Amino acid sequence: MDEQKILDSIRKIPNYPKDGILFYDITTMIGDSEIFSELIDFLYNRYKEQKLDFIVGIESRGFIFGAALAYKLGIGFVPIRKKGKLPFTTVSQKYALEYGFDEMEIHIDAFRGKKNAKVVMIDDLIATGGTAKASIDLIKAVGGECVEACFLLRLKEFDSFKEIQKQTKVFNILDI
Ligand code: AMP
Repeated sequence: MDEQKILDSIRKIPNYPKDGILFYDITTMIGDSEIFSELIDFLYNRYKEQKLDFIVGIESRGFIFGAALAYKLGIGFVPIRKKGKLPFTTVSQKYALEYGFDEMEIHIDAFRGKKNAKVVMIDDLIATGGTAKASIDLIKAVGGECVEACFLLRLKEFDSFKEIQKQTKVFNILDI
């Protein structure tokens, strides 16, 4: 997979959503059919032998990659969403992110009663790691085992992996 091609396909927007943040806009990447399918195929090859039970995607861009990957692997997809979006009983976790605070939730029965469901969690980007850490805690809280946290981009300016590596393996495609 051509990493530079992926990076070039992501639009960079300075000072969004607030001053000082360089926002990585993946919509320009997923709109490119060749790059999007190359990326999903690459992730499929990485995980196809691992006998995963679910892919967990983090709202909202993690849904795009996660759902495509889950479909290709022939397994279920589980969303972790921002507070108040999931309609059934949830477990929730509050955390700090690069530009504010948030709270994420997962359905209590997300893994359909499967004991120690083996999952890979996916998101587009890891910055401070707060969202990922909260999500790994949520997976555990509802009976899952996160065997790898997977990101398209990692912002190197944050030392995000140290905390998360205490709980799971971490993989990212690009360091920026
Ligand atoms: P964090 O919890 O700080 O690791 O933030 C990660 C979450 O915020 C991910 O869901 C990202 O999609 C989003 N995010 C944080 N910083 C950026 C950025 N500079 N560009 C695009 N998305 C970002």
